[in-house]
Amino acid sequence: MSWDFSTDPDYQEQLEWMADFVRREIWPLEAIWHELGLDGLTAAIAPLQEQVKAHGLWATHLPPELGGQGMGQVKLGLMHEILGTSPIAPLAFGNAAPDSGNSEILAMAGTPEQKDRWLHPLLAGDLRSAFSMTEPNTPGSDPTQLLTRAVRAGEDWVIDGHKWFSSNGSIADFLIVMAVTSPDARPSQRASMLIVPTDTPGVEILRDVPTMEHPWEQFGGYGGHSEILYNGVRVPGEALLGAEGEGFILAQQRLGPGRIHHCMRWLGVARRAFDMMCERATYRHAHGSLLAQKQTVQNWIADSAAEMQAARLMTLHAAWVMDTQGARAARTDVALIKFYGAKVLHDVVDRALQVHGSLGYSTDLPLEQMYRFARAARIYDGPDEVHRQTVARHVLGGYEPPADEVPSEHLPTRREQARERFAHLLDAVTAND
Ligand SMILES: Cc1cc2nc3c(=O)[nH]c(=O)nc-3n(C[C@H](O)[C@H](O)[C@H](O)COP(=O)(O)OP(=O)(O)OC[C@H]3O[C@@H](n4cnc5c(N)ncnc54)[C@H](O)[C@@H]3O)c2cc1C
Repeated sequence: MSWDFSTDPDYQEQLEWMADFVRREIWPLEAIWHELGLDGLTAAIAPLQEQVKAHGLWATHLPPELGGQGMGQVKLGLMHEILGTSPIAPLAFGNAAPDSGNSEILAMAGTPEQKDRWLHPLLAGDLRSAFSMTEPNTPGSDPTQLLTRAVRAGEDWVIDGHKWFSSNGSIADFLIVMAVTSPDARPSQRASMLIVPTDTPGVEILRDVPTMEHPWEQFGGYGGHSEILYNGVRVPGEALLGAEGEGFILAQQRLGPGRIHHCMRWLGVARRAFDMMCERATYRHAHGSLLAQKQTVQNWIADSAAEMQAARLMTLHAAWVMDTQGARAARTDVALIKFYGAKVLHDVVDRALQVHGSLGYSTDLPLEQMYRFARAARIYDGPDEVHRQTVARHVLGGYEPPADEVPSEHLPTRREQARERFAHLLDAVTAND
C-alpha cells in the first residue's frame, strides 16, 4: 500500500528555485509588461529563459526525446502552481498556452518534416502558434457541429470557414485549424487538424475580439483572441496533422493535461489573492476592530484555505491518475477539477477583492484583473456545465432505478424487511416481556 503526499527532495529543491526565481525576476516585470510591448517583453524574458534552460526546466511538458523532462503530470502540476502566480511566468519556462498545447500535438502527431518546420522552432521560441477551433456561429461546447470545411483539391486542401477566439492568432506564425474533412463520417471522426501558415493567401485576421480581459480593441498584442476568416485557403497535403478524421482524438489528448495545468495555475493565482486578503485583514481597522477580527472575514479566510486545499488535492489526484493509469482513466477527475477549480479561483479572488473595498475594485491592485481572468476560466476549455454533465453521467452510470421505484433507503420498507429477517430477535424480546 502506498499513499504518499510528499515531493521527492531533489524536485522539491527545484520547486523552491522556481518559486524564488518567479518572485524575484518575473513578478517585477508584471507592472510594466504592457508598456514594454511584445518586442520589449520578448527581450526582457530572453535572459530569464536562458536561466530556466540552464536549470533544465525549459519546455518540461514534452517527452524526453523532444528535449522535455518526461516528468509526468504530478510534477508538472506542482510546477504550474508556481508559474500560475504570474501571467508571464509560463513564457520564461517555454510552456505558455497555446504554444505548449500546440507543441504537444505536434510532438504526438507531427511527421518528421512537420516537427522540423514547426515544432523545433516553436520550442526554441522562434515561432508562435494559435489553435483555431471555436467558431462564432456554432457552439464551441459541441465541436461536432463545426462548419469550417477543408476539401481535397488534387494534392492540396482548401479551407473555408469563420473562427474566433483563436488566442494569439494575430501574432502567430502558424495556426492549427480544426476543420471538417469527412462530413459523412461519425460526428467524432468528421474533423481533422491542419497546419496553416498565417501568411497563406485567404487567411484574413479580422480583429482581436475585445473582451473582459482587454475591453478595448487592440490588434497584435500578446494574449489577444483573434477572429479569422479562412477564404479558400489552399495548403499542401502535408499540412494535415495526424490522420484524416483524427482531429477530436488529438484535441482530447491535448486538453486533458492542459486542464490539469490550468487548474494548478489557477491555484497559483488564488494563492496570491489569498495572501493579499490575509495581509489586508491584518491592518485595516473598521468599526472598532481589525478586519482580521471580524467573523465574516475569518470565515472567508478559512473557507478559502479549505477550498484551495481541496482543489489542490483533487487536481494532484487527477494528475496522479493520469500518470499511473493514463489520460482516459483520468477523464472524470479532470472534468471535476475543471469546474471546481474555476469556482475556487473565482470565489477566492472575489473575497480578496471585497476585503479591499474600492482599492480592490481599482486598477491599483491586480485583483480586478484576476477577477476578469477568473471569469473566463468558467468558459474556455469547455464551459462548467459540460464538465458537470461529464461528471454526473459518470457518477450516474453507477446507479440503477430501484425495484418498483421504491427508494432503497425507504424506511417503512426497510423496517418491514428487517422485521421479517430478524423475527427471531424480535420474538425473543417479546418473550422476555
Ligand atoms: C479567454 C478565452 C480563450 C479562448 N481560447 C481559444 C483558443 O485559443 N482556440 C479556440 O478554438 N477557442 C478558444 N476559446 C473558445 C472556447 O473554447 C469556447 O468559448 C468554449 O468552448 C465555449 O464555446 P462557445 O463560446 O461557442 O459557447 P457555447 O458552446 O455556445 O456555450 C454557451 C453556453 O451554453 C451552455 N451550455 C453548453 N453546453 C451545455 C450543456 N451540455 N449543458 C448545459 N449548458 C450548456 C453553457 O452555459 C455555455 O457557457 C477561448 C475562449 C476564451 C473565453
